[in-house]
This record gives sequence, C-alpha cells and structure tokens, in this order.
Amino acid sequence: MGNGQKAQHKRERAKNDAKKGPTSQLKTNEAAKNIVCQVCRNTFLCTVRKKALEEHADNKHGKKLEECFPGFVETAGKK
Ligand SMILES: [Zn+2]
Repeated sequence: MGNGQKAQHKRERAKNDAKKGPTSQLKTNEAAKNIVCQVCRNTFLCTVRKKALEEHADNKHGKKLEECFPGFVETAGKK
C-alpha cells in the first residue's frame, strides 16, 4: 500500500515539473518578444535594432517607425 502511494506521489511531482518547465520557458520567450507592429501584429525581440524596425515599417507598410511601433525605445546596445 505504501508503495502505491509513493508512486502516485512521484507521478504528481513529475506532472508539476513538466508543467513548470515549458510554461516558464514560454513566458520568457513571450517577454522577449515584446515589440509588436501595430499594423501587422508582427512581433520582434526587444533587442531588435531600430534600423530593422524602420526597414520593416518602410518596406512592409511604407510608414514611419513611429506609426508601426509607437513608443519604441531602442534598448539594444544600452548599458
Ligand atoms: Zn508590420
């Protein structure tokens, strides 16, 4: 009887671990992709260069950076 309980416990634990892993990883990825083009909802990493966004805005939409990414502040390269 003791054995069965142990196995059950182990299974529960494994389930929790499995839950924790991918979810937190997903969250990290989501947080890293926090620049969203307001026109096409394309997401960019927060470390993206301003130039890349400018090119996206211009090439894809013929718009200015501010129109696609209002409030964007370049964080890449900052200390
Ligand atoms: Zn876009």
